[in-house]
Amino acid sequence: MNILVLNCGSSSLKYQIINMDTKDVICKGLCERIGIEGSKLTHKVPGHDNYVVEEYMPDHKKAVELVMAAITDKDHGVIASVDEIDAIGHRVLHGGQKFTASIIVNDDVKAAIRECFDLGPLHNPANLMGIEACEHAMPGKPNVAVFDTSFGMGMEPKAYMYALPIEYYEKYSIRRYGFHGTSHDYVSHRAIEISGADPKTAKVIVCHLGNGASVSASIGGVCVDTSMGLTPLEGLIMGTRSGDIDPAIVQFICNKEGISVDDMLNILNKKSGVFGMSGGRSSDFRDIEDGAAEGDESCKVALEAFRYRVAKYVGSYIAAMNGVDVIAFTAGVGENDATTRKLVCEQYLSYMGVKIDDERNNVRGQERLISADDSTVKVYLIPTNEELKIALDTQMLIENK
Ligand code: ADP
Repeated sequence: MNILVLNCGSSSLKYQIINMDTKDVICKGLCERIGIEGSKLTHKVPGHDNYVVEEYMPDHKKAVELVMAAITDKDHGVIASVDEIDAIGHRVLHGGQKFTASIIVNDDVKAAIRECFDLGPLHNPANLMGIEACEHAMPGKPNVAVFDTSFGMGMEPKAYMYALPIEYYEKYSIRRYGFHGTSHDYVSHRAIEISGADPKTAKVIVCHLGNGASVSASIGGVCVDTSMGLTPLEGLIMGTRSGDIDPAIVQFICNKEGISVDDMLNILNKKSGVFGMSGGRSSDFRDIEDGAAEGDESCKVALEAFRYRVAKYVGSYIAAMNGVDVIAFTAGVGENDATTRKLVCEQYLSYMGVKIDDERNNVRGQERLISADDSTVKVYLIPTNEELKIALDTQMLIENK
């Protein structure tokens, strides 16, 4: 069985075809600058040179057409025709309160994704366009929506309600949703599997530390809490996002600088985080580490603040679950930065007996136990695989149709 996985961003489209018998990625690629001059598709087949198509893509419909042409191209393609694709799995950013799990797309599902445009204004329209483009290009093939928010639907009201007048929840569904759900779901279940913890009761904390970053707590695979909120802006310090701040800062800066709330939100999303803290040096954590190593004070503070915030969330989630069995690190920083993993665990959690084994921790992007044998909590590096999780959900749904 071959499953096409699509992840449509506001101006990009990432795709993979996964052979579900072997779990091999047959090909993957990226359409960039959709709707912007200079659109380009890069198609990658393992063991072959990249195939690049430079053609204007006004929207995701055109991008899907170019993907179909690339995967069936007689020189660079991997399948003879789209008939060899059994189903399409779509990452959908926001499912609102409606979707607690992945679902086969029908007209009601599309209407619900449309209803969530307000909650995911950049991504949901692109996600829906990707679904409709696939329906057009591959009529009759099942499309499955996998929501970034469905893992967070496990939260109880005490974790998801904001302390605001209840009318805003009732009128506009203002609550905490959480994001990176596919990754937290995949990594937390993998953590249970490889640690041998009891799948029904295991208390797991996943630190998804990439450009976007979030922490989740789950018991028996069900989300108890997660650090992102109504939008991905809440929680940790990220590449360019501020994470938690006092909301009064918004009014203060808007008044002082004479800017609108929309301008301020743009600053909080795109110009803050370690990028903003380092005076605009970079949103890439490697550059921030280099800056800190060269003695740049603002980079040092940004890095320390980032790790401190991660540790504070981990600590609060240990309290939320009244314990923890496994901590797992994933995504760009979590998979590659041994120092962040060590400091989060030892600078802040050694009081409760969390111990990292330096030799085990000296690893990148490889699934591995990194805690010492006498650590009270098992700590793992688990590379995330959101595409595989989307493909697995898609396979499960179409097989049980
Ligand atoms: P996203 O999917 O949110 O864009 P990723 O999970 O791909 O993010 O992570 C990207 C981040 O990972 C970048 O900020 C990058 O600097 C960071 N990263 C990659 N390798 C390292 C490393 N060796 N040390 C520290 N950070 C790293």
